[in-house]
Amino acid sequence: MSENRKMSQLEKKARDWLKDRGVDITDIAELVYYLQSRYHESLTMDDCIYNVEKVLTKREVQNAILTGIQLDVFAEKNQLEEPLQSTIGMDEGLYGVDEIIALSIVNVYGSIGFTNYGYIDKQKPGILKKLNDKSTGECHTFLDDIVGAIAAAASSRLAHSAVGEESAEDDE
Ligand code: MG
Repeated sequence: MSENRKMSQLEKKARDWLKDRGVDITDIAELVYYLQSRYHESLTMDDCIYNVEKVLTKREVQNAILTGIQLDVFAEKNQLEEPLQSTIGMDEGLYGVDEIIALSIVNVYGSIGFTNYGYIDKQKPGILKKLNDKSTGECHTFLDDIVGAIAAAASSRLAHSAVGEESAEDDE
């Protein structure tokens, strides 16, 4: 990524909030490696980090991060109204809006992201396992899906670029 690229306030905030909630870029890159290493022999962590960084420059991704984390934080502080407080606070399985917000990220690089997202959501490796630990008193109902979705989108981007496609959407 260009060092000179001007980062918007929105992007900076989204990155800061991810970090504040315990998610580093390398945590997400490790998920990308988990998903993609079997398909790309010479895949490095730097490749994975590069593609995660690209996903994080997308405005729809930044908006999903801020929206999801804001709701998680309110739930953690007991500041939502019922019945939403209980639903999000307990990460109720039938709620589903957390997955819908995540899908806006998965879609950024086309439909192959869906498969990766579904797979990683079932396996819950690395940081996803940590975010799903309900014994901590923290609420990551939205964040776990968002992090999985960023990894899935970065995997799609990587797969497209591996076959020589330029991701034109990146040049907006
Ligand atoms: Mg969730």
